[in-house]
Amino acid sequence: QIEACSVTKTFGKFAALRDISLTIAEGEFLSLLGPSGSGKTTFLTLLGGYEAVTSGQLLFEGQDMTGWSAKERAFGMVFQGYALFPHLTVAENIAFPLKVQKRSKARIDARVAEMIELVGLAGHAHKKPSALSGGQQQRVALARALAYEPKVLLLDEPFSALDKNLRGQMQEELRRLHRDLGTTFVFVTHDQEEALALSTRIAIFNHGHLQQIGTPDEVYERPANRFTAEFLGDIN
Ligand code: ATP
Repeated sequence: QIEACSVTKTFGKFAALRDISLTIAEGEFLSLLGPSGSGKTTFLTLLGGYEAVTSGQLLFEGQDMTGWSAKERAFGMVFQGYALFPHLTVAENIAFPLKVQKRSKARIDARVAEMIELVGLAGHAHKKPSALSGGQQQRVALARALAYEPKVLLLDEPFSALDKNLRGQMQEELRRLHRDLGTTFVFVTHDQEEALALSTRIAIFNHGHLQQIGTPDEVYERPANRFTAEFLGDIN
């Protein structure tokens, strides 16, 4: 569904990503895994169209999307901080992207109710984000990103601010959502266990290079090089 062909991204003289080629199949749960500064977030922002590639090409369903804006790509995005609108209620936050699309009020109301149910926030529709826990806020962010049925959902360390218990709970929820919706998920994490537990495949980055891509079993049992072996072995 998505293909990156020799994608490079430089900031001034610094190469954040070098010659990245990989494919992401429809319905995959691909984790981008690597230490801090390895280029994971940069790759996600290139996929979303928030930054332009320096060289190389990005294809979506066989079409060259390299020059498409973020709006044209219309992938869903969930960030580390939840980036909810503090002055809007849960329902209004979820409705926001649908209003931008100018859907009818009846369709928006129905979709918002469906999304609130989907992420387990029944009874919270009229609360402001400040009245919710971190996990609940992240559920709102997920519901908002999924509301307009994007073909691809990009997630940047969405659970890093949550405590361990809540994190486990949200991982379970994300797995269920992925299974039920069949949407393509691209998930940035620096947590090896999280990537191994959730993904259909894992792309491992270091210093802007793609080190290995494969299923959790493949990368764990047959690491391609010393970096991958040590990085995956570093689970506590
Ligand atoms: P983290 O887990 O810490 O978010 P990451 O793997 O997501 O790390 P990136 O955020 O992609 O890493 O950053 C990769 C490198 O590119 C870093 O060295 C970072 O400083 C640099 N970088 C990222 N964005 C910019 C920018 N807008 N201008 C200059 N350098 C940047």
